Amino acid sequence: MKAEIKDGKISVKPIYNGEERELEVSFNLPEEDYGFDDVTFETPVRVYARVTGKAQGKEKNEGYTELYLEVAADISTECARCLEPVCETVEFNKAYGLTESKVSEDSEEYLSTDHGELDILECARSLFLLNFPSRFLCDEDCKGLCGECGKNLNDGECDCNKKEVDPRLAVLKNLKFD
Ligand SMILES: [Zn+2]
Ligand SMILES: [Zn+2]
Repeated sequence: MKAEIKDGKISVKPIYNGEERELEVSFNLPEEDYGFDDVTFETPVRVYARVTGKAQGKEKNEGYTELYLEVAADISTECARCLEPVCETVEFNKAYGLTESKVSEDSEEYLSTDHGELDILECARSLFLLNFPSRFLCDEDCKGLCGECGKNLNDGECDCNKKEVDPRLAVLKNLKFD
């Protein structure tokens, strides 16, 4: 069944009551909820959430409610090392257990609901913001730019390292400072 969002929240009561086995909802994060310097969002941040009631335990009579959350967006930026353009899809997903009453603090794995209401917007926002990379690379092995001449070293080596070191400086290089 499709769930309806009100003020960023969905009601998971139908699951708790056993009326529904599964609730789904898709939406975009409001744009004002995210923004990173030097990163352009080519698409909004898409959110997909699924709440499932699961029976567990030996007798299959212990209720367990799971929230599966997925957030994704297409971004473009530049490589932190070589400054070449980078376009990629950033995507995170996570499953949580839902608890009906606020018995303890929300944790990494468990989220509590208030009167059967789940703040799905806040959950999606945290999942996206906490996992968003602080920098992007065109490739894990990107060699970056030469600090001397600025050449993109992915295109081949430059001559900077090959230059003979001035013999007078070479002496300094061997000095030890204790
Ligand atoms: Zn690069
Ligand atoms: Zn160079």
